[in-house]
Amino acid sequence: MKIAVVPGDGIGKEVMPAALSVLDAFGLGIEKVNLEIGYGKWERTGSAIMDDDIALIRECDCVLFGAITTPPDPNYKSVLVRLRKELDLYANIRPFKPLKNVNLPCSGNFDFIIVRENTEGMYSGVEELHEDAAYTTRIVTRKGSERIAERACSLAKKRKGHMTIVHKANVLKSDSFFRDVCTGVAKKNNVSFNEMLVDAMAYDMILHPGKYDVLLTTNLFGDILSDEAAAIAGGLGLCPSANIGDKYALFEPIHGSAPDIAGKGIANPIAAILSVKMMLEWAGKTEEAMSIDKAVDSVLTKHFTTPDLGGGYSTQDVGEAIARLV
Ligand code: ATP
Repeated sequence: MKIAVVPGDGIGKEVMPAALSVLDAFGLGIEKVNLEIGYGKWERTGSAIMDDDIALIRECDCVLFGAITTPPDPNYKSVLVRLRKELDLYANIRPFKPLKNVNLPCSGNFDFIIVRENTEGMYSGVEELHEDAAYTTRIVTRKGSERIAERACSLAKKRKGHMTIVHKANVLKSDSFFRDVCTGVAKKNNVSFNEMLVDAMAYDMILHPGKYDVLLTTNLFGDILSDEAAAIAGGLGLCPSANIGDKYALFEPIHGSAPDIAGKGIANPIAAILSVKMMLEWAGKTEEAMSIDKAVDSVLTKHFTTPDLGGGYSTQDVGEAIARLV
């Protein structure tokens, strides 16, 4: 197996070594291709990602990604959006469940997965910026909706056989189209479903997170709901994600580059380490993936944590402790 390693910016550079120390502990002989991509590179060279980087990534089986700063500058194009499109990573899979000893802001047990369409919707990249107006075109296609709905159905079948389709079909035509395609795919797969308007979903997710299992939604809604879900699950430092296509995959923590804590060595590496777990699961290394889960459980049980979880340990301390236990 050959992986591209992209630490990125800010805490990406700190959580990646911790994640790699866990991966290396398995001695799987995985070949790594280190790439510098991100805002730092853009500041230095005027380009955040080059065609050569994409070509090198295409020679790998998948990408392990840290975090990248995306400044609110209209001249800067999001690297992640480009990678998701170029590699056609259409399914963004984000699991959420409480981890050991993590204080949760809401009560109740839960275990749900957000399945977010990752290549179109509000992030289609069709935009116009004029003097007095700006336009963003929200593109939702049959192909894009069908394939993400198929992904959600196959996950639902391995779980409870049910999914919740989240949309704003009462206002947006593009979403009534998405809803209709998704319900068709659910019926064809014999997966039961219910529907939620995204605003009601944002509200109910906090009140009754335990009601949900597989949530299927469009790009921007999935982006926002998953940060909300991360708060419910105890913090961004704990939540991993997978971006999956038919050929390539990219694994990354949900969090960004967290400039407010970057350089201090206190970022929680668990989200990045659980992203390694998702990568190993994807690669069929189920035993190794399970042992990461157990090791994370064990350090949390001992309250061996970074400051976001109330502990006094560093990113590296926690990474090494998990690496020792796998
Ligand atoms: P970006 O501009 O790259 O998206 P951001 O700061 O806007 O960065 P996040 O990086 O997602 O967004 O961070 C949001 C908040 O969560 C910040 O206060 C950050 O410190 C905190 N946070 C994010 N990741 C972690 C982590 N791994 N450990 C501890 N705190 C984290």
